[in-house]
Amino acid sequence: MAKSSEKSASPKNVESKDEKPSLWSAPPVKILRATDSTRIEDIDFDETPGFEGTKAEGQALLPERGEVLSALQEKLYANGRAGDLRSILLVLQGMDTAGKGGMVRNVIGMVDPQGVDLASFGVPTREEKQHHYLWRIRRALPRGGKIGVFDRSHYEDVLVVAVHDLVPRQVWEPRFDEINAFEKDLTEEGTLIIKVALFVSPEEQRARLQERLDRPDKHWKYNPGDVTERGFLPQYRTAYQRAIDRTNTDYAPWFVIPANHKWYSRLAVTELLIDALEQLQLDWPAADFDVELEKKRLAES
Ligand code: AMP
Ligand code: MG
Repeated sequence: MAKSSEKSASPKNVESKDEKPSLWSAPPVKILRATDSTRIEDIDFDETPGFEGTKAEGQALLPERGEVLSALQEKLYANGRAGDLRSILLVLQGMDTAGKGGMVRNVIGMVDPQGVDLASFGVPTREEKQHHYLWRIRRALPRGGKIGVFDRSHYEDVLVVAVHDLVPRQVWEPRFDEINAFEKDLTEEGTLIIKVALFVSPEEQRARLQERLDRPDKHWKYNPGDVTERGFLPQYRTAYQRAIDRTNTDYAPWFVIPANHKWYSRLAVTELLIDALEQLQLDWPAADFDVELEKKRLAES
């Protein structure tokens, strides 16, 4: 974090923008970015795109990069306290057992919880159902200086809703444009959006569900509906493909992450967050008091 408090900080001396983590052949922000040719059916869930190290190296790297993430996050928070309205929003999508909860614990868990606005979105409550689907989303948006994390999101309203025909197609279809407009507004208000879709293979999902059944300490995570949803995997893939195709914008990009290896998906999301924070080119906020005068007052007290 050398020199980052200097007013003249350029992207180069803010953080390791150019000296990318050496175990990566290319930055995750490039390699995982969804493109027009991203095909979910082609994902190799076991792959660890761009990472050239071993599992042990990946696991060792996570806390190291966590320190970088945490230092940047502190700066974002400090700026928020000084009135900066900018924030980050990390949208986490993925089917059950894709690793959304573990992402929150293991990646977001590396930063100061004071600086995090976390929200998870389940089946809409009675109150939520009485409102537009973006109502609960708007209420949960990160405030200035925060990293907002959505464990599921407004995307459920074009995913589970489409898969199960919860509303007719002519109702969910226009939502893509509406979501794009919503996210554009958010971006213009100072929120940097990162959307992450985590994908595990059907076999890995079975193994993770099996573990939830075998271990009494994991029963709380198990929901009989999860097995039902497994029967809809092809429909979910279609729905994810459509959602990513329709809402993968420059201002709110999707990142598609093979997630059979938790150590990889966590490291990758850590890097995406670091990159996002670096884009903000944060300095420490200037003191709103006379530092020299305060030093003198303190010495004399
Ligand atoms: P979990 O993330 O395991 O707590 O599960 C939350 C459940 O809520 C998932 O099955 C989601 O598909 C479901 N869910 C989330 N948002 C919606 C929505 N807008 N409409 C219907 N179901 C939803
Ligand atoms: Mg669940």
